[in-house]
Amino acid sequence: QAQRQGSNYQFYSTDINNGLQERLALESELYYALDRGELLLHYQPQVSLHSGRIIGVETLIRWQNPTRGLVSPAKFIPIAEETGLIVPIGEWVLRTACAQSLAWQAQGFPALKIAVNLSARQFKQQNLVETVTQVLDATGLDPNYLELELTESLMVDNIQQSINVMQQLHNMGIVLSVDDFGTGYSSLNYLKRFPIHTLKIDQSFVCDLVVNSDDAAIVDAIISLAHSLNLSVIAEGVESQEQLDYLQTKGCDEVQGYYFSRPLPANTFTQLLQEGKTL
Ligand code: C2E
Ligand code: CA
Ligand code: CA
Ligand code: CA
Repeated sequence: QAQRQGSNYQFYSTDINNGLQERLALESELYYALDRGELLLHYQPQVSLHSGRIIGVETLIRWQNPTRGLVSPAKFIPIAEETGLIVPIGEWVLRTACAQSLAWQAQGFPALKIAVNLSARQFKQQNLVETVTQVLDATGLDPNYLELELTESLMVDNIQQSINVMQQLHNMGIVLSVDDFGTGYSSLNYLKRFPIHTLKIDQSFVCDLVVNSDDAAIVDAIISLAHSLNLSVIAEGVESQEQLDYLQTKGCDEVQGYYFSRPLPANTFTQLLQEGKTL
C-alpha cells in the first residue's frame, strides 16, 4: 500500500513538472509567434434571424505552431493574458480584422460588423482607446462596423473605470457586446449603466436548450431581459435546426454556430459571401 502511494506521488510530481515545462515552452514559443507569422484569424458568420442574412462576423484567433500544429486559443490566450503578450497580439488581431473587413467591403460585399474579442488585460490598458482610435484611423474602417466583445467579469472588476472606457468607445461609434452572458457575475443593476448594444447568450445554455428545460428557461429570460433593456441578443454555439427554431420562436435576433458555419479562414469566408449563403 505504502509503495503504491509512493509511486502515485512520484507520478503526480512528474506530471506537475511536465505541465510546468510544457507551459514554459508554450510561453517562449508564443513570444515569437507573432513575429514569425504563426498567428492567423478565422471568421465565423453571425446571421440575422429576421432576414436570414449574414450581418456580422466574429474574429477568432488561431496559432499555427510549426511543431505542435494548431493550438487552441483556450490554451494560449490565458498564457498571453498572464504574460501581457495579449497586448501586442490583441492589437494585431484588431488591426488585421479591421483591414479584412474593409477588404470585403472593397470587393463589393455589403458591410458587415466585425466583432473582436477583448481580454481583461487589454481592456485595462491605459491607452486602449488611443490604440483603437489609431487602428481605425490607419485602416479607415467606420467605427460603426466595429464591435468589441467584453466579458461580464472584465466589466465589473472596476465598475466606474469600466463605464468610463466603455463610454469613450461607445461615443466613438463602436458597438459593445457582452460575451458569454449568464456565466459571469452579471448584476442587472450594472447592466443598465453600461453602454452596451448586444448580449451574447453563452453556448453552455444553447447546447442543451432543446432537452433541458432549465437551460431553455435561462435562454428565454436572457432574450426577454435584453429586449426589455432595448438590447439586441445573439445566441452562440447554435448547432442544430431545433435550437435555431426555438431561438427564432423566442425572438432572438441573431445566431452564430456550426449549424450555419464553422469559423473559416478569410478566403473561405469570402466564398461564403460570394455564394450569398442565407439561413
Ligand atoms: P468565445 O469568444 O466565447 O468564442 C466562441 C467559441 O465557440 C470559439 O472557440 C468558436 O470557435 C466556438 N464555436 C463557434 N460555434 C460553435 C458551435 O456551434 N459549437 C461549439 N461547440 N463551439 C462553437 P475558439 O475559436 O476555440 O475560441 C475560444 C475562446 O478563445 C473564445 O471564446 C475567446 O474567449 C478566446 N479568443 C479567441 N480569439 C480571441 C482573440 O482574438 N482575442 C481574445 N482576447 N480572445 C480570443
Ligand atoms: Ca466571443
Ligand atoms: Ca462567447
Ligand atoms: Ca466562451
